[in-house]
Amino acid sequence: MQIRKKSMIAVMTIITLFISNVSVQAEEDLSQQEKYQERLQLYKKMEAVTHVPWYWLAGADAYERGIRNARKDRDAAEGLISIYFSPKEWAGPLNPNLTSDNPSVISIFGGVGLDGNGDGKASIHNDEDVLFTFANYLGRFGHDDENVKIGLWEYYHRDQAVNIINGHARIFKKYGRIDLESEHAFPVPLQYNYSYNNTWGDRRGWGGRRIHEGTDIFADYRTPVRATSYGIVELKGWNKYGGWRVGIRDLSNTYHYYAHLSSFEEDLDVGNIVAPGEVIGYVGSSGYGKPGTEGKFPPHLHYGLYRDNGYSEWSYDPYPSLKSWERKEKAKS
Ligand SMILES: [Zn+2]
Repeated sequence: MQIRKKSMIAVMTIITLFISNVSVQAEEDLSQQEKYQERLQLYKKMEAVTHVPWYWLAGADAYERGIRNARKDRDAAEGLISIYFSPKEWAGPLNPNLTSDNPSVISIFGGVGLDGNGDGKASIHNDEDVLFTFANYLGRFGHDDENVKIGLWEYYHRDQAVNIINGHARIFKKYGRIDLESEHAFPVPLQYNYSYNNTWGDRRGWGGRRIHEGTDIFADYRTPVRATSYGIVELKGWNKYGGWRVGIRDLSNTYHYYAHLSSFEEDLDVGNIVAPGEVIGYVGSSGYGKPGTEGKFPPHLHYGLYRDNGYSEWSYDPYPSLKSWERKEKAKS
C-alpha cells in the first residue's frame, strides 16, 4: 500500500513536470507570436498616419534588425522596432542635450526626432516615435513603390540596402504576414539518401589555398535541392569554383549559397520569391572549370551561409543550422 502510494506520487510529479514544461514552451511561442502581431499593428498604424505602405516599413525594419544582429557596435533593439537613429541624428548634432525629447527643441537644433504617439514627447526610446519619424521621412518622397525606393536610397545611400529592403517588402506583401523568418527546411528532402559532416574551414582541393566556407551534403545526382527559408533569389548562374549555383537572401538578411548543381528548377529566376521547402535545383558535380564542367568530384550540394553588417559580408558555419532544421523536420514527420 505504502509502495503504491509512493509510486503514485512519483507518477503525478512526472505528469506535473511534463505539463508545466509544455505550458512554458507554449508561453514562449505565444510571446514571440504576440511580438509579431504587435509589430504588424505598429506598421499598419503608421501606414494609416503616413500613407507609406506597411510592408515597406516592415522591410526596412527587418533589414535593420539583420544589421543590428550582425554588428557589435550596435545594441539589440530595446523595443519591437529595430530602425536605428543615433542620439545626434535624433536630437540634432549641435543640441547640447542629446537625450532631449522635446520636439520643438529637437527641431530647432535640426534633429529628426518626431512625436509619433501624440504624448508631446519625441522619444528615441519609443517605438511609435521612432517608426513615425522614419515613415514620415519616406512619405516626403511619395507613397507608391517607386517613390518609396527613392526615399530609401536618400535615407541609406546604399543600393544594396534598397535592394534588400525591396526584397523583404515584396515577401511581406505577398504573404500578408511577418512571422516568416523562423520557418526553415532542410535543403535535401529527408527521404533521400544523403550524408554530411562538419567540413567548415577544411582546405579545398582546387583553386589555391582557400578555406572551405560551407557544408557539403553528399547525395545522388538529381536529388532535389530546396530553399531553406523564405527569401529572394539574388543570383543564378555559373562560377568556375561553384559551377551552377543559386544565391538566396532571407528575411534575417542571411545569404544562402547553393553550389555544384546539375541543373536549376524550371522557371527559377533572379528576383523570384521562394518559400522553405521549395525546390530550386538538383544535386550535381558542376564546377572547377569552364561552364558545363562536371564530374571532377563526387556529386554533392555545397551549402554556404553569409551575413551582412551593412558594409561587408562574411561566411559563417552552416552546420549547426542544418542540424537543427533537420531535427525539427524529423520531429514533425
Ligand atoms: Zn563545399
